[in-house]
Amino acid sequence: MKINKNYLNLQDSYLFSTIAKKVAQYQEANPDKKPIRLGIGDVTLPLAPAVVAAMQAAVAQMSCKATFRGYGPEQGYDFLREAIAGYYASHGVAVDAGDVFVSDGAKSDLGNILGLFDVDNTVLIPDPVYPVYVDTNVMAGRKILYMDANAENCFLPLPEDNVKADIIYLCSPNNPTGAVYNHEQLGAWVDYALKNNAVILFDAAYEAFVQDQTLPRSIYEIDGAKQCAIEFCSFSKTAGFTGTRCGYTIVPSELIFEDVQLRKFWLRRQTTKFNGVPYIVQCGAQAVFSEAGQRQIKANIAVYQENAKIIADALKEMNVWFTGGENSPYIWLKCPSGMTSWEFFDKLLNECSVVGTPGSGFGENGEGFFRLTAFGDKAATEIAMKRLKSLFK
Ligand SMILES: *Cc1c(COP(=O)(O)O)cnc(C)c1O
Repeated sequence: MKINKNYLNLQDSYLFSTIAKKVAQYQEANPDKKPIRLGIGDVTLPLAPAVVAAMQAAVAQMSCKATFRGYGPEQGYDFLREAIAGYYASHGVAVDAGDVFVSDGAKSDLGNILGLFDVDNTVLIPDPVYPVYVDTNVMAGRKILYMDANAENCFLPLPEDNVKADIIYLCSPNNPTGAVYNHEQLGAWVDYALKNNAVILFDAAYEAFVQDQTLPRSIYEIDGAKQCAIEFCSFSKTAGFTGTRCGYTIVPSELIFEDVQLRKFWLRRQTTKFNGVPYIVQCGAQAVFSEAGQRQIKANIAVYQENAKIIADALKEMNVWFTGGENSPYIWLKCPSGMTSWEFFDKLLNECSVVGTPGSGFGENGEGFFRLTAFGDKAATEIAMKRLKSLFK
């Protein structure tokens, strides 16, 4: 037996373990202090009542012989696929319910989709980045090129004609930077992909945070995108499903490479290696799209957006450069006074008792930057920003 040695090429991620260690040391030295956590990349508000009621009704159905369900369709129940297509239609994007694949979350699909592509493809990934894109390709042994996201391009890199890539990752609104591509910029990526016979893997996990109606929430708002892009989305951040687990991926029938519909490969992959998302969870996910569900999840997102605004307003007052915050739960700031990411982390923890995430943990270009998140609670976020402002007066 020979092992997959590509795993030896994975870089250990010390980011969150180092943060945890530093916070524990701080707590030991300052037992009376309770650090405010603005580093969390996880939701904190509970499931919407409409979702809970739908899941409870589904549990009742499962408890009764007449309504019990066993295996469901691997690609998801039609009721949920149609609700997802209806959601796209509600913001003017035509998606065929038959091209919607329901899964246990975007992370699994982002990793599993790579099984459809040859190892001999060049991957283009922005730096800084959500680490999943990099590690899943390292595991497969694929060649990775990085594109610079930096303050000059507002952390929204655009295609360069001299770079040849086959698989392109885009995440908008972005984690960790909160930056959002506009139609023209996404159009440039679609043009590049069509011209270079490349596929775009578009991560739309934060689409529900887009408030500015002029910004795209789906890559399929761009003409030609169905011929070159797969879109990944999730109920995790939108509806607090990080622990409940449900996401969806759109593989348009129009997406054809080497005379093969990728949709057919993905259907075969899912029916072979996946047995579907629990019926109870899919009923909860369907309720997200009900009138009450939409109202309730929007109220939760509004709470996070208010926190983001508190952070953004404080940074503006301090004249600190940042992206994100308006159409995303993440604020990506330039560390004041030329500090490195970890220097700023230490200062924030030790002098303000506030925990954030060093940008250097997301890639080389993250050095000197810092991520704050809006998933905390309002009062704590306000206190944290007050302390930050007084620190740099
Ligand atoms: C949170 C997140 C997801 C969602 O992943 P799930 O597996 O659906 O929970 C996807 N992409 C990015 C960039 C994220 O931050």
